[in-house]
Amino acid sequence: MIIVKTVSALESIIGNYKMQRRSIGFVPTMGALHQGHISLIEACKRGSAVSVCSIFVNPTQFNNASDFEKYPLTVSQDIDKLEKAGCDLLFLPPVKEIYPDSYVAPHYDLGYLETILEGEFRPGHYQGVCQVVELLLRSVKPDHLYLGQKDYQQCMVIKKMVEDRNIHVEIRVEDTVREKDGLAMSSRNVRLTPQERLQASALFRALSTTKSKLGKGPTEAGRAEATAILQQHGFRPEYIETANADTLEIIHNWDGKTPVVILAAAYIGDVRLIDNVLLKN
Ligand code: AMP
Repeated sequence: MIIVKTVSALESIIGNYKMQRRSIGFVPTMGALHQGHISLIEACKRGSAVSVCSIFVNPTQFNNASDFEKYPLTVSQDIDKLEKAGCDLLFLPPVKEIYPDSYVAPHYDLGYLETILEGEFRPGHYQGVCQVVELLLRSVKPDHLYLGQKDYQQCMVIKKMVEDRNIHVEIRVEDTVREKDGLAMSSRNVRLTPQERLQASALFRALSTTKSKLGKGPTEAGRAEATAILQQHGFRPEYIETANADTLEIIHNWDGKTPVVILAAAYIGDVRLIDNVLLKN
């Protein structure tokens, strides 16, 4: 695997790939890699001729300073995992390489998507996500961008940004990889105490319960049950919502047909976890 730390070195290698007419797949990450990230690399290797990964803990997407400070950094293990997975190129830039002093942050008009769920509870988060993803896409120039369903709303935000900014890339959303007990893999899971880690599987159980009980009509009872499950297991829920899977409009009364995604965010101790499940008809 080639490792580069500067935009100019990255762009020169990308230029070679383009000359060779090899399709480029891209997996942006913040490191502390787990099997969820590696499954994206594997999808990338299946679907694109060249696999490019980035590791960059993007400061502008952290609305909470202590979350940024506590974000796990495991670069040498990450490099080993990427080597084993057969990744071709890793972009590992320092902050100044992404945000030079001359950088002026654009404003992204994300409309409704920025007013709900993660947008509501993490003000400014998606502006930061769009900043870094746009910069990365403009340098990596991938044919395919691989994202995890785990960050469902983020996938929708990035799709909108890419369309609005006229960036030509096909977005491929891959399934969430889970631990045996259902907990979605996340870089933040390592911050859970052993006790919290045991309790944490309640997040997926709460979402699955809501999903299994969802029927035509009001969605409130399912959400209330999920809240109760979370609270019983020591979670402090921020939101649990049933939404239209295509638009993220909140569904209070389900027609029994509209594709649904059930999304939740909840704190356990000082760790904030998110997850979602899809109901496909
Ligand atoms: P992050 O490093 O958390 O910014 O995530 C980088 C990419 O990995 C994003 O597209 C995430 O949605 C994806 N991802 C994170 N966790 C998982 C998971 N458990 N399963 C699949 N993809 C994931």
